[in-house]
Amino acid sequence: MPISDKEDDVPSPTASTKRVSWDVYFMRIAREASLRSTCDRKFVGAVIVRDRTILSTGYNGSIRNMPHCSEAGHMMDNNHCVATIHAEANAILQAAKNGVMIDGATIYTTASPCWNCFKLIANAGIRRICYGEFYRDDRIFEVAKRLQIHLDEVRVEA
Ligand SMILES: [Zn+2]
Ligand SMILES: [Zn+2]
Repeated sequence: MPISDKEDDVPSPTASTKRVSWDVYFMRIAREASLRSTCDRKFVGAVIVRDRTILSTGYNGSIRNMPHCSEAGHMMDNNHCVATIHAEANAILQAAKNGVMIDGATIYTTASPCWNCFKLIANAGIRRICYGEFYRDDRIFEVAKRLQIHLDEVRVEA
């Protein structure tokens, strides 16, 4: 019997263990990735997915082979630490580095993308953004609508 998306996403009431939806599943993995963040000003994790398959992951971290904020201190610029590459950007870069096509994919990120990451996401061809909590830039909502990029909040319990 073919399994539809919908059926699969609804936990069976008779099941002894509740099956989580795909959105919650991938958001939890994004949250797990956030635990690798190296700047304690903001822990963010991201996972890029297509066809229920993880293509790439990322977290907020320093440039490869550069010291972490926890060792060298933050690099402050206008009240933001700019030492790190954001989780969403790192997930896109990991795909590029490995030659993984992410056009048409979904990105799960524990915090809504900043304006710079949003621009990268849009031009990478990602069609859906799921975020765990609102971060700081609400310009993304209007522009996402214009570009027909779906923007969905996916909450997972702490
Ligand atoms: Zn930092
Ligand atoms: Zn960002």
